[in-house]
Amino acid sequence: MLVMKSYRKELWFEVPSRRAFINITPQVEECLRESGIREGLCLVNAMHITASVFINDDESGLHHDYDVWLEKLAPHEPVSSYRHNRTGEDNADAHMKRQIMGREVVVAVTGGKLDFGPWEQIFYGEFDGRRRKRVLVKIIGE
Ligand code: ZN
Repeated sequence: MLVMKSYRKELWFEVPSRRAFINITPQVEECLRESGIREGLCLVNAMHITASVFINDDESGLHHDYDVWLEKLAPHEPVSSYRHNRTGEDNADAHMKRQIMGREVVVAVTGGKLDFGPWEQIFYGEFDGRRRKRVLVKIIGE
């Protein structure tokens, strides 16, 4: 008989800068170990609309290139150029950066490991930092 297990954990981050990319693969692997799940699916999502979770290469040049590209697409300044910022916020650009970098990833769990392709790592993308924010890890399987 198959018994499906379910595991849930929140990872907390407080990035000291406005923007950052953090490799959270070790924390997600720790969650998977804690869950005891060997076969299933692992969902990782940002719980905030100004932060992302995405999968790509852990290469600092690429992360710099992402930052430059995102600033071209949605520059932080002038903050007055965004209608959203008329609410008194200054983070309209962060909402847009989050949209293009994505909310979540799903990784297959095979033999108790995250079943990645070559060079794949999981990142938390912060676009409006300097406050405590959360990432949800949900793992289901057996
Ligand atoms: Zn906002």
